[in-house]
Amino acid sequence: MTPKLFNPGPVDVSPETFAAMSHTMIGHRGKDFEDLYASLQPGLKEIFGTTRPVFLSTSSAWGVMEGALRNLARKKVLCLCCGAFSDKWIDVAKKCGYEAEAIQVEWGEAIDPESVRAKLSEGGFDTVTFIHSETSTGVLNDLEGICAVVKSFPDTMLIVDSVSSLSTVDIDMDKHGIDVCLAGVQKALALPPGLCVFSVSEAAMERAKNIPNRGYYFDFIEFAKNDAANNTPTTPALSLLFGLQYILGEIAKEGFAARKARHAQTNAMIRAWGAKHGFPLFAPEGRRSFALTCFATPDTLDLSAFIKTLKMKHHFLINGGYGKLQGTTFRISNMGNETEATMQALIDAMDSVLASM
Ligand SMILES: *Cc1c(COP(=O)(O)O)cnc(C)c1O
Repeated sequence: MTPKLFNPGPVDVSPETFAAMSHTMIGHRGKDFEDLYASLQPGLKEIFGTTRPVFLSTSSAWGVMEGALRNLARKKVLCLCCGAFSDKWIDVAKKCGYEAEAIQVEWGEAIDPESVRAKLSEGGFDTVTFIHSETSTGVLNDLEGICAVVKSFPDTMLIVDSVSSLSTVDIDMDKHGIDVCLAGVQKALALPPGLCVFSVSEAAMERAKNIPNRGYYFDFIEFAKNDAANNTPTTPALSLLFGLQYILGEIAKEGFAARKARHAQTNAMIRAWGAKHGFPLFAPEGRRSFALTCFATPDTLDLSAFIKTLKMKHHFLINGGYGKLQGTTFRISNMGNETEATMQALIDAMDSVLASM
């Protein structure tokens, strides 16, 4: 039996979502598709907190993470690094041929906005990469603080990855002056992987116009041109878009505020469960994600036996730490469709496994 995923991405996809995705194929150059595209905009704009269009990229998040650099970076990129995903961005920047420097903090720590101010004050940086919820460590970085600092440096573009935060907390893209905000749909939006949603500020669109060699597949100018006709540059992942339409309908029914409250509540349940067993939280107080929880593995816990028994006996899969944190941490997701009832079922199963160890 395939286990139900409480892994922080991809997460569990509901049967209703799969049903929506099995919609008959439609041509993507016609009115049916334009209507589908347009129907997604209000719901996406709400969760991004923007009046700008939200573009649909048939790729995983890294496609747009790399693409954003190719559209905006001129010469030198500052990468704010605090975990596996944010650390990788500096390698990607270098592979794209940019000069890149990192502000590197220990995994499990958050980025201090004042360190960003100090680094940008040295001069020369034209683009900053930032991950809001660093999924490998469970850290929710200070989005407002980082945005305020980067905005105080004119002509410096801020690219924000909100893969595991979009729809769990406010992003407020316009209010904070984010230039590019992007998210893969296999995390908090609980869809299968293969689609990345992203929005681009007016200033970033202006900047992109004068950047040479943007390529084609991720060219923001192409996305904007097609968006004006409710379309995408290339054939979109239509099934995923039908799934997204369903999920956005669910978010509208639940209400964005209620959805955020649900994530806060289900996350609090997992934190309380950990506290009961004496499992320390890996991320610092006040900077913890509401979409997933990362615990430091205590010496007294046989983590691999715990995860294995939970999977074999109860068919629930949690994650045993990402990258170099494998074994020393473990992570539990409460993203997507999880409710108090489904999280309670996981907690009961985890308690039963711990009691048997
Ligand atoms: C999962 C995740 C990604 C991964 O992106 P893919 O291209 O879908 O593999 C990027 N950033 C964060 C913060 C993530 O959690």
